[in-house]
Amino acid sequence: MPKNIVSYDEVLINFKKLLKSNTLKYTKQRELILEIIYNNNGHFTPEDIYNLIKESYPDVKLGIATVYRTLTLLEDASIVSSISFGAQGKKYEFGLKDHHDHLVCLECGAIEEFIDEVIEKRQEDIAKQFNFKMTNHIMKITGTCSACQAKE
Ligand SMILES: [Zn+2]
Ligand SMILES: [Zn+2]
Repeated sequence: MPKNIVSYDEVLINFKKLLKSNTLKYTKQRELILEIIYNNNGHFTPEDIYNLIKESYPDVKLGIATVYRTLTLLEDASIVSSISFGAQGKKYEFGLKDHHDHLVCLECGAIEEFIDEVIEKRQEDIAKQFNFKMTNHIMKITGTCSACQAKE
């Protein structure tokens, strides 16, 4: 399982700066969105995040629009990253994790993570062939997961 590569304190400092530079106030609600995505390994829709916060903090007043807006802000700052699964939407994960790639089911939105040394190496080789300085790559296999195939 990929691990977060920065401490929560560090991310929180950057998040507060980000809010400030967008003339947005720091609120506990906004921090909870970051906290949930930092502490839960996996990929979440805005609704998933909203529901997780509601479950853990039933007294907190939160609108789904705040979740959407905060995720967009965090994504623009590369603190979270998103994976789209067709017309159904997007799932978010913490963006500063060990590198990994994804298998994405376009039927149900299930996402599996994988890391393959051969694929990693080939990409480095290709970049080298083109005298290209690689800084990142995004590898996404889309299709139908085994559970959805079984339903067909
Ligand atoms: Zn599926
Ligand atoms: Zn992932």
